[in-house]
Amino acid sequence: MKQRIEGIGMTSRRTRERMLARLMEQGITHPGVLGAMLETPRHLFVEEALASRAYEDTALPIGFNQTISQPYIVARMTELLLERGPVNKVLEVGTGSGYQTAILAQLVKRVHSVERIYPLQQRARRCLQDLNLRNFRLKHSDGGWGWDEYAPYDAILATAAPSEIPETLLAQMARRSVMVIPVGQGATQILKRVTRTEVGFEVEEIEPVNFVPFLPGIL
Ligand code: SAH
Repeated sequence: MKQRIEGIGMTSRRTRERMLARLMEQGITHPGVLGAMLETPRHLFVEEALASRAYEDTALPIGFNQTISQPYIVARMTELLLERGPVNKVLEVGTGSGYQTAILAQLVKRVHSVERIYPLQQRARRCLQDLNLRNFRLKHSDGGWGWDEYAPYDAILATAAPSEIPETLLAQMARRSVMVIPVGQGATQILKRVTRTEVGFEVEEIEPVNFVPFLPGIL
């Protein structure tokens, strides 16, 4: 068993190096983000049958009609989150496979992540523990409520798209914090970065994206 995993690890390090070259071609420059993506075994976050495709630049199914985001999007969103300087406390909405959580955990002090589908949350927890990451907390909850207990956050990252930015999430942003969130439905989603200033909120439109919908309630 161990040898088999090491075997995959060897190959996947090379494929991850290729993934990294592609990310740089696509304009990702943040050394921390590139480093975390080189080190993180993305194939462990997808089903075994899809492991050989884990380093392609594509979203892949993780069950329950959900997907693990494409590597470029994970890199881009993380870069947008960290561009303004170091971040201590992050709230992620939509743990999904836990891959984005793993990337964040290597770059910030503490990650709080909520997921509405319980079996996904459980699987993500096992993956993150297997990687020996400890600076994360997961909650089975509707991210529309944020996670009040640890608010305010220095950064919020949502990996599911609401039709409008939930007020509750805006309220849980610390001053000078950023939120990166896809907004809109179907083919008309746009990735936005919201910055909380001393006096209000500034919104930048980044690029068109294609995320699963932000849904209410828990499963
Ligand atoms: N970051 C994840 C992306 C998973 S897809 C990864 O890298 O794998 C988005 C996830 O958001 C799905 O798992 C979906 O169940 C979850 N989601 C959608 N709406 C949500 C909500 N309101 N609260 C919490 N999670 C939500």
